[in-house]
Amino acid sequence: MAVEAAPAGTASREDPRLSEDVVCIEPGCVAVLDGASVPEGIGTGCCHGTAWYTRQLAAHAAALAQNPRFGLDEALGRAIGAVRAAHDSTCDLDNPMSPSATVALARWNSECLQWLVLADALVLVERTDDTIEVVQDLRDDALTPELSARARRHTPGDARDEARWRDHTVAQRAARNRPGGSWIARSEPEAAGHALTGSVDLRRVRSFAVMSDGAARLVTPFALTDWNGLAHTLREEGPAGLLEQVRTAEGTDGDAARWPRVKRHDDAAVVHCAPVRPRERARRRDH
Ligand SMILES: [Zn+2]
Repeated sequence: MAVEAAPAGTASREDPRLSEDVVCIEPGCVAVLDGASVPEGIGTGCCHGTAWYTRQLAAHAAALAQNPRFGLDEALGRAIGAVRAAHDSTCDLDNPMSPSATVALARWNSECLQWLVLADALVLVERTDDTIEVVQDLRDDALTPELSARARRHTPGDARDEARWRDHTVAQRAARNRPGGSWIARSEPEAAGHALTGSVDLRRVRSFAVMSDGAARLVTPFALTDWNGLAHTLREEGPAGLLEQVRTAEGTDGDAARWPRVKRHDDAAVVHCAPVRPRERARRRDH
């Protein structure tokens, strides 16, 4: 498998934060996690922070996913449990603002590709028959239409918009990870059972990509291209080229007037993978 990743940098070069997006690549599997931002001034009950949580969870999830006896949902559930145990004694993990992350996992062997998606991270599979499958969990948007609509009207830096966003974020987190709500990786291992999972015969896969929503902004919400276009960019320009295009687009709309959004720039991470078949290997050797 040829694997190429764009390092999970922060939203912009001037941004001193630690990126809350994390990429973890292990033999036979890839994990991309996107830590959920916490509005300033809101307590989370955790003394470690979102970047710590996301790195811990990515490492555990990628390590456990290497065990073929575990389904990807079981691997993620065990990883959430392991991270919970790592800070249960120091932090209030029943606080709904406790660190949380969206998750996209891909695992492969010589025959098959498997994926898992929880919340708005994505897996994009480009098949050999030229069709594209996008796996993204949009249940959160469906459950909180008011919040989604608010995001579409949001002006970053506007005090009233920021205050409203804070209130809605608190309400959204309180409704998550409970029956009838949407699910995200937080401190409840059972959330993994609500992830979207699937698999495909590896012979039918031309390439696949695992990414955070920040890397998919050219398609949604910017609508500058479609999934085919995004796959084309990944093929031609690689993950770094894709993220460069995202940053350029964000930069042309610095005041978020054309594309209203909560964050002018978003952390972004993407890994692009392509099975290297014996014939292609031979051809590469010959040239
Ligand atoms: Zn903690």
